[in-house]
Amino acid sequence: MARYTGPVCRLCRREDVQLFLKGDRCFSQKCAYERRPYPAGQHGQGRKKRPSDYGQQLREKQKVKRMYGLLEKQFRGYYYRAARMKGVTGENLLSLLERRLDNVVLRCGFGSSHAEARQLARHGHFLINGKKINIPSYLVKPGDTVEVREGSKAVQKIVEALGKVDRTARAAWIELDKDNMRGKITALPARADIAADIDEQLIVELYSK
Ligand code: SF4
Repeated sequence: MARYTGPVCRLCRREDVQLFLKGDRCFSQKCAYERRPYPAGQHGQGRKKRPSDYGQQLREKQKVKRMYGLLEKQFRGYYYRAARMKGVTGENLLSLLERRLDNVVLRCGFGSSHAEARQLARHGHFLINGKKINIPSYLVKPGDTVEVREGSKAVQKIVEALGKVDRTARAAWIELDKDNMRGKITALPARADIAADIDEQLIVELYSK
């Protein structure tokens, strides 16, 4: 599946928020957004215009899309799926995005960034309910267990990332067994479980035009 391969710090600067796309660097003083909190490029520091309603909706959508490392087509696919589900579309959308295997790997602390978690998932380092799954978009469900494969427990990236898992808040819907490198999905992720500052209603408004 296609993915964005350009510079990621400029995405945070464009969206005017830390998206935490670079692992350790995001928690250090080297964070580009901390040093230059304005869009990259010649006009990045220009006069700030008040965004239109469409502009706000677009930026919110771009922010969430980039947060989860998705491209437009995939992201829109999640929106349509969320719209067909029972309940509130915006909340369904975020819940679907959270349930992706690469995101669960990140939330469990087996990877330090979305890109790394996605690569680890793609390389087949994880078992879901004892079965090897290497599809980053695989959606977990309550009761599932995501664990690092026996042969992957010494993979340096995983060990290092797990060592730093406590620097961010744990996801309430995942029960992490750090010693056994295992996470159990205890519930569907609810809106209150998603700490990021997201106004999902703006995304719904954008797509439902
Ligand atoms: Fe964003 Fe991380 Fe780069 Fe900072 S270091 S700008 S949080 S990707």
